[in-house]
Amino acid sequence: MNCPRCKIPLSPYNLKDLKITLELDRCPDCGGIWFDKGELQKLDKIIEPAFFEFRRTPGKAQQMEALYCPSCTHHPKLEKAEHPRDKKVIIDYCSTCKGIWLDKGELEAIQKENWLITIGKIFKWLTGDESTQS
Ligand SMILES: [Zn+2]
Ligand SMILES: [Zn+2]
Repeated sequence: MNCPRCKIPLSPYNLKDLKITLELDRCPDCGGIWFDKGELQKLDKIIEPAFFEFRRTPGKAQQMEALYCPSCTHHPKLEKAEHPRDKKVIIDYCSTCKGIWLDKGELEAIQKENWLITIGKIFKWLTGDESTQS
């Protein structure tokens, strides 16, 4: 699997916690992380989010660049989803495999709001559950 930005192979990245270890794919160059479907949800079991040391969010132009799914065979274009609260965070996700690409800095920006609560919100928003529009 190659980085959708840099086109170089992603390397395995183990996210360890007392309870679980997540095996993610991270780009050694730009620091972006690919979450397969379900992996981001597992993170809500991690109480201590301090393991991420992201320092910056990429610029808007860079975030709006078209990216292609590194995981699906036919590499469909990733959809852009803007975080409803923090417009600096634009998350790329694959509507086919439900994988999520977070650029370096995006996870940190999400964490600032409130890690555990936000994860739940992100998934309602990404999956577009129309029944909960109030
Ligand atoms: Zn990269
Ligand atoms: Zn995909």
